[in-house]
Amino acid sequence: MICPNCQKEITPDSFFCQWCGTFIPKTQKGRKANIFIRWLALVIDPLIGIGLYFLAVGIFGAISEDMAGVMAVLFPLGYFIWFLTLLRQGMTPGKKILGLQVVRNKSGEIPGFGKMFVREIFGRILSGLFFGLGYFWALFDKNSQAWHDKLAGTVVLKVSK
Ligand SMILES: [Zn+2]
Repeated sequence: MICPNCQKEITPDSFFCQWCGTFIPKTQKGRKANIFIRWLALVIDPLIGIGLYFLAVGIFGAISEDMAGVMAVLFPLGYFIWFLTLLRQGMTPGKKILGLQVVRNKSGEIPGFGKMFVREIFGRILSGLFFGLGYFWALFDKNSQAWHDKLAGTVVLKVSK
């Protein structure tokens, strides 16, 4: 098989070209995401939530104490809805900011809510076992799949602009 982007020979049943990182099932969609950027997304995900929370409560708290109280309840709700909306698009807040997207490994389609839920909840528990071995797995996997990707049948792309 030949990579449509760099014209080099690709290992059979690879989802990515090992030379240029092009995503073979849907070349225009993007390329293989750098694993360290993916870990960065993982780290900033909770920070974005916490940061926005204090920002929202702080701003409304400057107006009145009641507003801060209202925001302390409304913000988590709003954030949760935003989070679920992003999840449906194969993203989390951190992934969105860093231009990453989770797609089905064979088709490049957006996995959909059910698959993303499995990936983000059960998959992450699985990957977190044995000192996070499932996360480090992506370093050596030819498709950069962590265990939660294997479970959900997904890969992570750096999306083309
Ligand atoms: Zn290539």
